Amino acid sequence: MAQRHRVTLIPGDGIGPEVTDSACRILAAAGAAIDWDVREAGAVSFKKGVVTGVPDDTIASLRTNRVALKGPLETPVGFGEKSANVTLRKLFETFANLRPVRELPNVPTPFAGKGIDLVVVRENVEDLYAGIEHMQTPGVAQCLKLMSRKGCEKVVRMAFAVAEAEGRTRVHCATKANIMKLTEGLMKRTFEEIAREYPDIQAEHIIVDNCAHQLVRFPENFQVIVTSNMNGDILSDLTSGLIGGLGFAPGANVGNEVTIFEPVHGSAPKYAGRDVINPTAIILSAVMMLRHLDEPALAERVENAVWATLQDGIYTRDVRPEGSVGTRAYTEAIIARLGVSASDAPKRTQRRITVPVLDPATDPVRARDRRTVGVDIFVEATRKPEVLGKAVEELASGTPLRLKMISNRGTRVYPATGATPDCVDHWRCRFVLREPVQTLDDQTLLDLVRRVGQSFRFMHVEKLEELDGAPGWTRAQGED
Ligand code: NAP
Repeated sequence: MAQRHRVTLIPGDGIGPEVTDSACRILAAAGAAIDWDVREAGAVSFKKGVVTGVPDDTIASLRTNRVALKGPLETPVGFGEKSANVTLRKLFETFANLRPVRELPNVPTPFAGKGIDLVVVRENVEDLYAGIEHMQTPGVAQCLKLMSRKGCEKVVRMAFAVAEAEGRTRVHCATKANIMKLTEGLMKRTFEEIAREYPDIQAEHIIVDNCAHQLVRFPENFQVIVTSNMNGDILSDLTSGLIGGLGFAPGANVGNEVTIFEPVHGSAPKYAGRDVINPTAIILSAVMMLRHLDEPALAERVENAVWATLQDGIYTRDVRPEGSVGTRAYTEAIIARLGVSASDAPKRTQRRITVPVLDPATDPVRARDRRTVGVDIFVEATRKPEVLGKAVEELASGTPLRLKMISNRGTRVYPATGATPDCVDHWRCRFVLREPVQTLDDQTLLDLVRRVGQSFRFMHVEKLEELDGAPGWTRAQGED
């Protein structure tokens, strides 16, 4: 007799209700004893005036049940409300997003026969998805890429925990640390440090663009890929494509308190209510959920039935239109195969994943010595760089700070380098102490900001801090 579980169910938008219905019917037929606590989020909630898209009763349900199965939620693109998905992930600090893909029988792809079986472990709450955006000038937008040592450590530890639970022997860390040395570099350095605790697992860093290239050429070389939020979002859609598309790609948002299982795909509104979409992604998300609920036998029963259905040549329209069946008929076909042993399904160790717990009170990084040595003041102006440079230099005269350089979108333009970048009205003026041994105090810094502010509209100030003697900032392109 299976154990009873109470799980929050968020059917979601677009094709969400159809795919969740399919998964729930299969789980019931498989013998899973689940009491579904059905809640709303997404478009329905926005329409009811819930600004976050996640009503209080949905939050309370998740907090109590700690496990959810969720359909996709619609987000307006480029305007309007913030994503309810991202809100849910952040509210419960589901810091890792697991996105496994595996080659499936009778799903034609250019990669058939390569035995693709990998999981992307995506950081889920930080990076550009912190969603901290500001218009700097009417024509210049900025999004802060925030990454913390703690966030990197949690997701990296999660990747190694996944590898251990699934008997995998290799973990890649994909970053853009060659360009973003501090943010993406933090992920790389954290990975290299933590990898030393796992001598039996081969740990490799790879630049993310090359990772995308290698994934398309030699996908069989990858087992686990840990990466930052934006990289992981893109790479995991790519890996879904390798095994037949988004209709086959499951996922889990994992945190210490709450875990939300959901397909990688979105609400595909054009297919809503048409009985044509592929529910496999959410069914396999439910399989992950069963493992999480410590129901490995049930998980295997459902997984085998999916495998057997595809093996029998039953598929939905996304695989190919000819000979396809509808969502409901596909669901029935899976139900009819529950209990079938898919003997040739590749087997892998699937222990319950131990989610890493870090002390929430501890900031893992402390500098013994930190010193403010300068300041970047960002201003709006339409002057030529030489004219602007002279004017800003003048503003700092007689102060403990001197203008070191001005950059435009990250490239030095003053003093001139000979380069001719196409400038916009957003300039970074970098000031450093005339006497480098000193420490810049806040009063001096604020006096300079006030002086600059009297001549220019400033919108952004960043301290330049040395941490244990190392610069806590990066140089502009062309800055010496
Ligand atoms: P999408 O809904 O995933 O759809 C993109 C395309 O993928 C579809 O047009 C379809 O391809 C294919 N597809 C997706 N799911 C499928 C399924 N189950 N079966 C068969 N084919 C499937 O992505 P989108 O159009 O970019 O986004 C639509 C909305 O969903 C947006 O509001 C977005 O913000 C939201 N979204 C939500 C989540 C989430 O809730 N986690 C994730 C991503 C996007 P063809 O057109 O080739 O048939």
